[in-house]
Amino acid sequence: MQDGPEKTAGNFNEFVSRRPRSALLSTVKIEDEEPYTKEQQLVIDSGIKLVNTKINDILGDGNKLSSGDVHPPSIDFLDEDPEHPNWAGYFSSMQNKIALILSKIKSPIACVKVFIHEYVHFISHNGFDDGELATDKVPLAQNNNVGFRRLFGVDIRSDKKGRITSDYFLAFNEAVTEQLAIDIFPGVHETYDNYRDLLDQVMEDAVSKNIGSNNEKGVFQAWSKDRIKSYIYRCFFTGNLAGFTQLLQMTYERYKISEQQFGLMTQRDDLPSLVENSWITNHPNDPPPSPSQVVLMVQRRLDSKTPEDYITDLIDSELLDDDDRDKVYGAEYDSWVKDNNIVSSSTKVIRGKKYNIDTHGGIIYREEEATSILESIRAEFDQLLARFEAGEVNVDYISKRMDELLFDKHTMSMLSDGFRDFYIYKHRKIDGL
Ligand SMILES: [Zn+2]
Repeated sequence: MQDGPEKTAGNFNEFVSRRPRSALLSTVKIEDEEPYTKEQQLVIDSGIKLVNTKINDILGDGNKLSSGDVHPPSIDFLDEDPEHPNWAGYFSSMQNKIALILSKIKSPIACVKVFIHEYVHFISHNGFDDGELATDKVPLAQNNNVGFRRLFGVDIRSDKKGRITSDYFLAFNEAVTEQLAIDIFPGVHETYDNYRDLLDQVMEDAVSKNIGSNNEKGVFQAWSKDRIKSYIYRCFFTGNLAGFTQLLQMTYERYKISEQQFGLMTQRDDLPSLVENSWITNHPNDPPPSPSQVVLMVQRRLDSKTPEDYITDLIDSELLDDDDRDKVYGAEYDSWVKDNNIVSSSTKVIRGKKYNIDTHGGIIYREEEATSILESIRAEFDQLLARFEAGEVNVDYISKRMDELLFDKHTMSMLSDGFRDFYIYKHRKIDGL
């Protein structure tokens, strides 16, 4: 493993030295807020009870995650959340807060499911390393307490090499979270099909590779798919990214795929087993590719991933599908431009070059000039996102800085080439924080 997973800043519990040890997490209340309605209290109580029962199955009774040894999150029920138009709920590890966005949830029963998903995020963010269970002095995981999601790391994709990315293990994190939420509460508001297909294929491949362990008598026993799944869940809640990575590496041993490569995968077709099979199917008269050729093909797939491949949302697919999120922000941009009557209205010569100017005095940049300005702003934006993850700046600061660069420094018109795409990109990213 290249660079072992670092402990990431940004977990509420890490800033709280003396955590209340509430015996029951169901006593959670938000300060300065109205009391919950009966229905809301029922969502919380039943959701926590269901999750804790499952956690006890996985980790055993008396584990710290279900016994009230973590600082309970605050829980908000929002009628709508214009800041996050594509989400049905979220968990913020920085604020230690779960929000449920009712306009995106179809029924009270779906609300329980969304709550369970978010509560599983909360629990996995507080996962303990096995080794650390031995001491009371270090109540938090020191290596990785964020499930499979490494909050950010150095990218390995060809055109993004060396840049900071938060894409690693996002798909596996959401897949495990949602799969567990479905195991706990099946049949309503099920999301993340692609990510779950990826996880499912890993489990299938592990079974066919005869992954297993010795029993008490020292006899090797291959694991069933369920056994593999419970191992993955265990890794998830004990912050054992190394264990999960090892499972992946044993399953796909012959290909030598790196942890980062696994971490960037988003669908089953990215896995080397399927890449190899599909190549063979498409080239029936050629000898099969070597394992290293398969790895190159995998890397090419990873290189072509776009931000849309690393989406986190919990919208019920019947309410809004993945492609719709582009449309939501695109429509937001369009209506802003329309409502503010931003049109090209005059021309002006600046430093010897003639520009169209919009009704608000913004310069309408075109082609390469527009691209290069937006690229430099986007680079700073990406850096700010990394600084956000490190706890150095907040969302307000990032938004203000973006406005400053776009509108003060460059007097850029929203009608400039590429502005709409940048707008969509920026809002999606900020949504993800
Ligand atoms: Zn999620």
